[in-house]
Amino acid sequence: MTKKINPPSIQETAFDCPHCGAYTTQFWYNVYGDSRDKNSIPNIPSKESLSHVLEDRETPRELKQNLLQWIDRISMGYVLLRKI
Ligand SMILES: [Zn+2]
Repeated sequence: MTKKINPPSIQETAFDCPHCGAYTTQFWYNVYGDSRDKNSIPNIPSKESLSHVLEDRETPRELKQNLLQWIDRISMGYVLLRKI
């Protein structure tokens, strides 16, 4: 007897992963847009512009790592689900 495969679907809350076969939960989020003041472009800092923060000895290492990860992810166009 073969196991029924549950493909990813927007109608379900769980699926069989097409890569590893694990049956896992699909988490859903509501996403909203909020227009920017005066239609200003987003402020996306570069790693270089944060060099003063990254070199600061008082800034916790974890915060520095979170900032770098945030820059990487937003630069790649990812939707961020957590604030840093
Ligand atoms: Zn997987």
